[in-house]
Amino acid sequence: MIILAVNAGSSSLKFQVLKMPDETLVASGVCERIGLDDSNFALKFDGEKKTFDQPFPTHKEAVEFLLKALIDEQILESLDAIKGVGHRVVHGGEAFKDSVKVDDAVKRAIDDVSDLAPLHNPANLMGIEAFESALPGIPQVAVFDTAFHQTMPKEAYMYATPYEWYENYRVRKYGFHGTSHKYVSERTAELLDKPLKDTKIIVLHIGNGASLCAVDGGESIDTSMGFTPLAGISMGTRSGDVDPAIIEYIAMKENRSIQSVIADLNKRSGYLGVSEISSDSRDLWAASDKGDKKAHLAILKQAKMIADYIGAYVLAMNGVDAIVFTAGIGENAPETRAMVANRLHYLGTEIDGKKNQVRGEEVVISKTGSAVKLMVVPTNEEVMIARDTLRLID
Ligand code: ADP
Repeated sequence: MIILAVNAGSSSLKFQVLKMPDETLVASGVCERIGLDDSNFALKFDGEKKTFDQPFPTHKEAVEFLLKALIDEQILESLDAIKGVGHRVVHGGEAFKDSVKVDDAVKRAIDDVSDLAPLHNPANLMGIEAFESALPGIPQVAVFDTAFHQTMPKEAYMYATPYEWYENYRVRKYGFHGTSHKYVSERTAELLDKPLKDTKIIVLHIGNGASLCAVDGGESIDTSMGFTPLAGISMGTRSGDVDPAIIEYIAMKENRSIQSVIADLNKRSGYLGVSEISSDSRDLWAASDKGDKKAHLAILKQAKMIADYIGAYVLAMNGVDAIVFTAGIGENAPETRAMVANRLHYLGTEIDGKKNQVRGEEVVISKTGSAVKLMVVPTNEEVMIARDTLRLID
């Protein structure tokens, strides 16, 4: 049977066509510039890539076009093969502790937390509604980035701010990248050949956006992103944790609004802000290798923040079996992995320089006999979405 895994943004819609339960990727694609000029569609299947210039006034036309393309390109014999559609939904607030089959009440609940994710939840809903109208009667499942972290204890998710902010405005840590943290921790337990409930795993999801998660017995007990994805370690363009008093100070010094200073923390900080070169880890390593001090500092700052969080999570879990690198940088940047690992000697772990040269493969990269294993486990959010969809439509 076929399951679609969908990630709808405000002007884009990414999807994968997966054959389940074997989890094989049949095709993937993206509709871009929905609602704008020059909208287009790219489709990958059988090692081929086809692009189509096609006007998409709304997500509805984009979904209709992509479904038609699956038939026209003979990827599917009939749309009847599609048994479910799983949607990435960024924010589930406190309402969703797991993925859920979509009905009107679920749509209202997603809408209800839109003020916590104003750029994402409305777009995710547009994706759901476009598929509802194109594939009536086919179950849709919402898979939330926040759901996996709903197991955090209260002392982890509450901020030490006036309690009424939580009661009145839902101010608390939610955490993100939950689908990735769940997939990677489950896969790591399999690779360790241990029951998930007996594992203590720290997942380092380091991409352009980045978050870390302490997974104790298969449950998130803490994570580095917070009320929004701005918190935690420094990222491609986000600062991660800063003293919030800086915001008012810069606003006063430069006679700017708080919103515009926060936009700097989101878009002009992290790798980009410190290096003044780029938000891309490859550019920073290239510059650092040529002796650029700010590029080096940008990478070193992030490595220190990652190691500091690892220290905190080891204490929070009272141990750790494996520290796992994933996402664009975690999977592909041996230099960054080594820089983090070199700060972890106290844990009795040492990176193996040769094993660490791997990119995008499942592998243990610590030396044989290390007390704590360092691993690379490529993430696969789409497979996790398809698994949850299959589980909930059965
Ligand atoms: P996101 O999904 O958050 O947009 P990704 O997980 O795709 O981000 O990660 C993007 C990051 O991964 C970029 O900083 C990029 O430089 C880095 N990256 C991708 N491939 C490589 C590579 N071969 N070597 C080093 N870094 C890489």
